[in-house]
Amino acid sequence: MLIKNLDCCSEKSVIVLPSGEKLCKQHFTDYFENKVFKTIRQFDLIDKEENLDVALSGGKDSLTVLHILNKLSKQNPKIKINAIAIDEGIQNYRDKTLQKAIDFCQKNNVNLHIFSYKEEFGLTLDEMLKILDVKPCTICGIFRRYLLNKKSRELKITKLATGHNLDDECQSILMNQLKNNIEASARLGPKVGIMQDSKFVQRIKPLYLCTEKEVTTYAFINGLLDDFAECPNAPQSFRAQVRDMLNDLEQKFPGTKYSIVNSFLQILPLLKQQFKYESIKICEKCSEPSANEICNACKYLEKLKNSIVEVG
Ligand code: SF4
Ligand code: ZN
Repeated sequence: MLIKNLDCCSEKSVIVLPSGEKLCKQHFTDYFENKVFKTIRQFDLIDKEENLDVALSGGKDSLTVLHILNKLSKQNPKIKINAIAIDEGIQNYRDKTLQKAIDFCQKNNVNLHIFSYKEEFGLTLDEMLKILDVKPCTICGIFRRYLLNKKSRELKITKLATGHNLDDECQSILMNQLKNNIEASARLGPKVGIMQDSKFVQRIKPLYLCTEKEVTTYAFINGLLDDFAECPNAPQSFRAQVRDMLNDLEQKFPGTKYSIVNSFLQILPLLKQQFKYESIKICEKCSEPSANEICNACKYLEKLKNSIVEVG
């Protein structure tokens, strides 16, 4: 029987793609970077002149997106790159990943701004979770998105790039389906949000079509990361359950994740049209953009304040 040789060259392979093709370090690096640049062009993510922020956590995804956009910036000096990190205050986790973010930015000469929940809201996430009976990721995500948008806008950033990959998007699509929250899906896609507004900094996802496996491989072989750190709150999240389910399906039926995202991309323009608001509301308390009279961040801050008063 003739077995087709799927190796890219005589070098040792570092990854096997869903097509069965095996790529060595150099060929995979080229393949991955081309895929990201193609995504940027295909979805028109970056203009000729930009003052970009990369939301940097110090994990593999955000370091990868910063590394690649930094390369792009060297080829196009009109595209400026900065990084923004949020310190939620998660003991034994965020301090370590933040150090990686700081080291990377120092080594690569990238401007890094760090903002913390403690300084901005008076409490760390760990402290908030001792007061409120809420799912950690719910409250963490609300405050992080709030700060990323507010601080990026104040820093006059034109777009905020995040490290979301194909696996993340798949999980979000499915989570929204399972929670019957289609409006949240309308905000997904490589360019986040339903409509543009000067109060919102446009968020973009250059790793949109790259799988978690590809991002991890790229980060490791390019020396961006040498170990894994997972948030201690992650395993109890709904996202973790959906992730495991999708990984199981992908293993049994390769290509499942691509199919989910590709079919979603076909209906996304209709979803965005369906949920287009007349105008974006402004939170009565903090003047930040909001879907309701009071934004979610202010709602939770009020709950925290009331709980502290009750206990006190
Ligand atoms: Fe926050 Fe949840 Fe992410 Fe941990 S896993 S950083 S709690 S959103
Ligand atoms: Zn508010």
